[in-house]
Amino acid sequence: MDLFEYINKILAFFTDPAWKYLIYSIIFILIIIWLAFIYWTYRDARLRSESTVNAIFWALVVLVLNFLGLILYLILRPPEFIDDIVERDLEIERMQLLLNGKQSSCPACGNTVNDDFLICPYCRKKLKNSCINCGKPLNLNWKVCPYCKTTQ
Ligand SMILES: [Zn+2]
Ligand SMILES: [Zn+2]
Repeated sequence: MDLFEYINKILAFFTDPAWKYLIYSIIFILIIIWLAFIYWTYRDARLRSESTVNAIFWALVVLVLNFLGLILYLILRPPEFIDDIVERDLEIERMQLLLNGKQSSCPACGNTVNDDFLICPYCRKKLKNSCINCGKPLNLNWKVCPYCKTTQ
């Protein structure tokens, strides 16, 4: 086999149409992955921020910069999902109400009742008297209204 024949064989190998299809499929797969990155970024940004503009902005960043954009997004994105923040705020609000003493539990049935309830809405137990003068809720054993000084 002389050198010329040898080079011809190599060239024939690389001009085989199978190569073309292989390269096309690799490009196709890369484009699919790229689109998946863009979609994932948009969806993730949407879950973490109320602003659609913000999500579109990051999707465009990933569209232009690809891997680099995705890495940038992962570094700069908000750390929490909106749903988690809302849920945590509700929980904090509930705890604060309990801590501030605006709510307590009914001595008869144990359900949560507001401190200004006159009777328990669940079991009808009398919780407070209302002042005969100003109508404010008073503890059952109070002899005088602390708001208007009227003797009960
Ligand atoms: Zn009750
Ligand atoms: Zn009063």
